[in-house]
Amino acid sequence: MIETVRMAEMSWPEFAERVKHDPVVFVPCGAFEQHGPHLPLSVDILLPTGVCEAVAQRTQGMVAPALNYGYKSMPKTGGGPHFPGTLNLDGATLSASVRDIVRELYRHEIRKICFIVGHYENQWFVTEGIDLAMRELGPSALRVMRLEYWDFFPPELTDKVFPGTHPGIMLEHAAIMETSCMMHLHPELVRVDLIPDNPPADFPPYDVWPAHKEWVPSSGALTSAKAATAEKGRLMMEHYARAIAEAAQGEFG
Ligand SMILES: [Zn+2]
Repeated sequence: MIETVRMAEMSWPEFAERVKHDPVVFVPCGAFEQHGPHLPLSVDILLPTGVCEAVAQRTQGMVAPALNYGYKSMPKTGGGPHFPGTLNLDGATLSASVRDIVRELYRHEIRKICFIVGHYENQWFVTEGIDLAMRELGPSALRVMRLEYWDFFPPELTDKVFPGTHPGIMLEHAAIMETSCMMHLHPELVRVDLIPDNPPADFPPYDVWPAHKEWVPSSGALTSAKAATAEKGRLMMEHYARAIAEAAQGEFG
């Protein structure tokens, strides 16, 4: 039997045994948000969970249960809250949840934690939660990392993944990267016949409240996802696993 990396599949004695080896605990930070007509609402949970599991396998780490809700979907990065099914947390709720998770893992002798964010809008609230926990714990042996997995996108894959006219990673919501990674990790959840092919959104350099729904392509994808393939997903996911494992090993030893 292959040892699981998922804490959710361990009994308490198994967890306690693993903790003795001072593992890194990876925490996927997701969101429940629309991802076009072709992808499920859980993409931002499933992708960082997949990254965490692959990295944990390479580093003898463990994966904590994912945060399934995230900070508010913004029109320019996630399409916005007006799409049916998008469920958001207030920033303070998310920060408090992250703070509590750090505190709880620390109480159980975990000293290395890595938050892997899969939803752009989460990043500062996850940062705040980690910082509140560090302040509360005071000087300790605890070390924490936080990262957005797409920041590890390798420039050498740009031409291979994004066709010439594609605006690239800035408008990557429900587009080529997320669709390809889902085709690789969870092909059964991708409605291939519904993959959108709309032109890129053209956003001004500011936000407004109430949001202008007409800024956002009606599909919910911020640009065409037509060029997505499972092979691109495999290349990206393998690179993320390798590069993030290397970064975690560099920090945590
Ligand atoms: Zn997403």
